Amino acid sequence: MDLKQYIALVPDWPKKGVMFKDVTPLMNNGDAFKYATDQIVQYAKDKQIDLVVGPEARGFIIGCPVAYELGVGFAPVRKEGKLPRETIRAEYDLEYGKAVLTIHKDAIRPGQRVLVTDDLLATGGTMEATVRLVEELGGVVAGLAFLIELNYLHGRDKLKGYDILTLMEYE
Ligand code: IMP
Repeated sequence: MDLKQYIALVPDWPKKGVMFKDVTPLMNNGDAFKYATDQIVQYAKDKQIDLVVGPEARGFIIGCPVAYELGVGFAPVRKEGKLPRETIRAEYDLEYGKAVLTIHKDAIRPGQRVLVTDDLLATGGTMEATVRLVEELGGVVAGLAFLIELNYLHGRDKLKGYDILTLMEYE
C-alpha cells in the first residue's frame, strides 16, 4: 500500500518555511491505519518485545495498537507535570530552549525489551530523550518504529546503534 497518499502536506505550519507532515488522515482511514500497524507488528514480532513505549501524543496512537497486537503493555512518555506518580526526566534541546520528557519510575522493569514508537523522526531529539528514559530504568531498546522519517533532518545520527524502522521517507 502507498501510505504517502494518506499524509497531508501542510505548508508553513506551525511556522513559515516548515512543510508539516500531517498523519491524521492515515489514522482516519481504517485500511491504512491497519496496514501501518501490521508493518510495525511484523517488524517487532521476532524481537521478543516485553513493552511498547511512546511519547505523547501521536506516539500513543501508533504504539497502543502495536502493543495490543503483540500482547504486551504500553508505557506513556509525557511532558513534565502530566504523569501523577514518581517520574524520572530527560531534557532535550529545542530550536529555542529546552523541553523535558518524563516516564513513571516503575513503568519498566530492568531487562525488559522495549519497542519505542512515534509518528515521525525529525531531528531525533524526542526519540533520543525517550531512549535515555528507557535505558535509565534498565530497559533494553530492541527497536524504534516510526511512520515517517525526514531524511533531511538527520535524526538517525542521534540514534546510532539502534535498530530503526520507518515506513515512509521524505527527502
Ligand atoms: P524531533 O524531536 O525533531 O525528531 O521531532 C519529532 C517529534 O516532533 C515527533 O514527536 C513528532 O510528532 C513531532 N513532529 C515534528 N515534525 C513533525 C511533522 O512534520 N509532522 C508531525 N509531527 C512532527
